[in-house]
Formats: sequence, structure tokens, C-alpha cells
Amino acid sequence: MSDAAIAASVVPLPIEEVAEKLAVPAKAVYRYGPHKAKLGLDFVSTLAPTGKLVLVTAINPTPAGEGKTTTTIGLGDALSRLGTKVAVCLREPSLGPVFGAKGGATGGGRAQIIPMQDINLHFTGDLHAITAAHNLLSALIDNHIHWGNALDLDARRISWRRVMDLNDRALRQVTIGLGGPPNGFPREDGFDITVASEVMAILCLADSLQDLEARLSRMVIGQTRGRRMVTAEELGGIGSMVALLRDAFQPNLVQTMEGTPALVHGGPFANIAHGCNSVMATRSALALADVVVTEAGFGADLGAEKFLDIKCRQAGLAPSAAVVVATVRALKMHGGVAVKSLGIPDVAAVKLGCANLKRHVENLSKFGLPVVVALNHFTSDTDEEVAAVAAELSPLGVSVHVCRHWAKGGTGAEDLARAVLEAIEKPSDFRFLYPDALPLAEKIETVAREIYRAERVDFSTAAAAKLKEFEAAGFAHLPVCMAKTQYSFSANPLARNAPSGHVLPVREVRLSAGAGFVVALAGDIMTMPGLPSAPAAHEIFVMPDGFIAGLS
Ligand code: ADP
Ligand code: MG
Repeated sequence: MSDAAIAASVVPLPIEEVAEKLAVPAKAVYRYGPHKAKLGLDFVSTLAPTGKLVLVTAINPTPAGEGKTTTTIGLGDALSRLGTKVAVCLREPSLGPVFGAKGGATGGGRAQIIPMQDINLHFTGDLHAITAAHNLLSALIDNHIHWGNALDLDARRISWRRVMDLNDRALRQVTIGLGGPPNGFPREDGFDITVASEVMAILCLADSLQDLEARLSRMVIGQTRGRRMVTAEELGGIGSMVALLRDAFQPNLVQTMEGTPALVHGGPFANIAHGCNSVMATRSALALADVVVTEAGFGADLGAEKFLDIKCRQAGLAPSAAVVVATVRALKMHGGVAVKSLGIPDVAAVKLGCANLKRHVENLSKFGLPVVVALNHFTSDTDEEVAAVAAELSPLGVSVHVCRHWAKGGTGAEDLARAVLEAIEKPSDFRFLYPDALPLAEKIETVAREIYRAERVDFSTAAAAKLKEFEAAGFAHLPVCMAKTQYSFSANPLARNAPSGHVLPVREVRLSAGAGFVVALAGDIMTMPGLPSAPAAHEIFVMPDGFIAGLS
């Protein structure tokens, strides 16, 4: 059965009942139809986090993903079954992957959030609001140049691009303003996907409307001809951006297939941004539930590190435990098996590939977090392969919990849930990987050495100079946001398993002054993806009764 059909097999609770589980007062529930709501800003602004935060992360994945979202949902449902007052916090899907290769982001099998069609498509309009706010600023930039360019903006040095929430490679580089004087000054521009917008990163890191406004004001949009950095504030129009974003800033409430409350809000890219749901949603959930389970994008080398060093640092959050999701399939891939042969049993390859899992476990302990391993079970896994994972991990004192939530729902993850409940009671000694005061280049070197196990970082001359420029301009205290392939600890996607002693090339760095981080690009990072030769868009259709089929 398809994910859409499985999701449709349950009758969702009215959203008021989901809100009641978290004791949200009725007047704070802004309904978007019977099964979706936003939590009013007045209400969430009064909340103070008290619950325990559990991060779900993963090993370096196969292209299909190893099941972080699915496990976050299954673990949430399992904790509910054990009587815990729990909420899950997830990112909002982007239409790019929905119509492209990866599909939606609402979990799978019997571990899904619903209504999955709504969440995967327009949901409550947040991504559209972000797109509009972002492009309003773009329009204001070209309008400023058109009416005399009082700021002396250098049209060749405008770094603020346009966005749209679709994969469309044809828009990566465009020329705008053609057609003569009434249409403005021609210049080169380009489109990124909306989730790569700094406005998205800001919406996810701001902790109040005032903070949202201040961060938007600080964004750098380009340079003058004298190479001075120009901020969005100087152009005017920030108030209008905040107006467009006001409703989108309120966290969305939905439910899992088993009725567990889920806050699904924000969805920044996991490469040039930090890759996790909004601070507003996480803080609200931590005030309303005793345990909050959340996911960070990509493998733990990228996703968990940025969740901890960027989001937790900025929002003052301290997680109580981390769950590392692994699959026998991905372990086999790290053990040298080709992607097309991952269904064939191979205990020796699984054992070899456990080096990847062990290193992620070791890395997370550098943050002082108790770690639990979730083995997301696929029907093709053999008992021998599963036993091999447990045997490999036992010398590290880490228990491996086989999870069947994809096939069975929450009941399939109860063993994991019990282990998590035990882990969050352990004294946690959470710490960041580097202090704010470390110079920017040394922050990048610390991540490269401690997490990626690189021998050194090779900065391009331009990148090294820019880091100095950012420091001189007062941004030395910011954390770094690493943009690297998710498939390897190194910058080479083909270097599987546990490579060490490599050189991490940092060719470019970018300042996200509003989001509050410096992006270090180690590899070719696509900010406007393309569609594959057989896109998911070919499979989606609407049945005569209005049911949207083909989403996964
Ligand atoms: P991630 O969040 O790590 O990218 P997802 O949870 O979105 O991964 O899962 C990726 C895909 O794999 C989804 O289509 C999901 O339905 C599928 N999937 C996850 N777990 C299983 C499983 N145990 N068996 C079969 N398919 C699974
Ligand atoms: Mg996911």
C-alpha cells in the first residue's frame, strides 16, 4: 500500500482534541480546516520550556534516506503509548523534493504525520509567505536602483537572489530588467529554492516578532561600489516583510497517525542553513509536553552538529539525549556494497560498515549527550545482519534497538522509547563543540578535525580573506554553518564509511548576518536543485472524489 493510502486508513482526531492533549486553550488554536491549526503568537509567547529534548539524527545515508523522520514519528507514538506526554517537532516539506526525487517529508508506512497531502503541498501557506517576503526585498532592491540608486549599490555585487519553492534548474542564472528603461536596469540574477532563503533560516531561529524584525534588518544584500556591505534595513520595507511573515511565524499543529501532537514548522536547507524546525515550535513544544522528539536534517556529522552548535546555542536549548538512526542497508553500503545490491544479505559488509555508525556515536559523546542507537528495520534485513550490528556496538556500551514503527506504528518502537526514557534521566553534560570566542577559521577547523576527522582544512585565498573581513566587521562571535556532502564524513561523497586524514577544502564562505552564522562551503552545493529524468511529478494525480494520490 502507498504511504498516501496508509495515511488515509485512519480517521484523524479533530485538531481541537490534539490541542487538548497539550492543554492548549481553545482560543489559542487557529484552525486551518478540521485537522490543521496554528498556535496563536500571544499564547506561545508566554511559554517557557521545561520538557526534555531528544534529538533524532542518523548515520551517513543512502540516497533514499535512512528514516530519521519516520523514526521521530514512531518514537513519538511509542512514547505516547507508554504514557508519556510527548510532542514531535518536524520541518515542513518543500515542493522541490515532493515533485522531484525524494518525495514528501511526512514519514512513511505506519509512522506518518497527517493530513499528509496537505502537509506536503501548501499546508498553512508558510513557504508561500516566505517566498513573498523574500521576493518583496528583491523587488525593493531593483526598485531602489531604478529610482536613482541613492545607496550606490553595485548591481554586479548584489548577493540577494530571488526564490521559488520548486526545483527548476533553468532559473539558476537569469538576466533581469531586459526591455529598456521602463523595466529597470538589466543585471544578472538567479533563483534559489525557498528553503535556501535566509528568510527561512531567520524564521526558524527568531524567538519573537521583534527578533524576527531585527534579524531581517541585519541581512546583508550586497555591496556598494566602494565595497561597503549594505543591509536590508537600509533599503526600507522590513515592516512589510514582517507583516507578510506574521502568520507564518506561528507554529503549526498537526498529529501523527496515532494522534500524537506534532508541531511542524519551518524547513531550512540542511547545507547552506542549519536544517531543523523552528525555535518557536521547539520552545512551545518543550513548554507543552514533558518530552519532545525532534529531527535534524542529514547525517549526524552535519545535521546534529549544526542543530547543537547553531540552534541550541542561539535558542539556549540543552538536549537530554540523541538517537542515531541506522539501517542495515546503509551499513552495507558503507561496508562496500553497491546501492543496487543492498537487498542481498551480507553480514561481513554490515560489520565493516558499522565503523560509520560507531564514529557518529563517538562524535555525539563529544557534546556530552547520552546516545541510543535505533536500527530502523527493513523487511529485507536478516536476523544475522541485525545481530551483527548489536555485537559491533556493544563494546562501546551503546545499546542497539531494533525498530519496526514503519511496519507496525508506535508499538514497533516501544523498546527504543524505553531506552530513550532511561537515557534522558541520565545526568547530561551538554556542551558545544567550540566557544563563541574562537576565531571563525578555527571554528571550521575544530568541526573538521573533531567531527569529520580531517587532517586539516584547505582554505582558498578568497575564503581566508573573507573570514578576516567578517571578523573585522564584527561577526567573529558567530557559529559556523558547514555546507558539505551528506554522504561522507569528508567532502568527497564517494568516500564512504569512516575516512580520516583527509583535507577539507573550503572554497567559499558567506555571511548570513540575519540568521546569525557564517556558511563554509566545502564542495559544490546546489541552492536550486533540478528535477530528475523521472520526477515524482509524473506520478501524482487527483481522483474523481478529490483524493490526492501518488504522494510518498
Ligand atoms: P530521513 O528523514 O532520514 O530522510 P525518512 O524518514 O523520510 O528519512 O524516510 C525515507 C524514506 O524511506 C521514506 O519514503 C520512508 O517511507 C522510507 N522508510 C523509512 N523507514 C522504512 C522502513 N523501515 N522500511 C521501508 N521503508 C522505510
Ligand atoms: Mg527527514
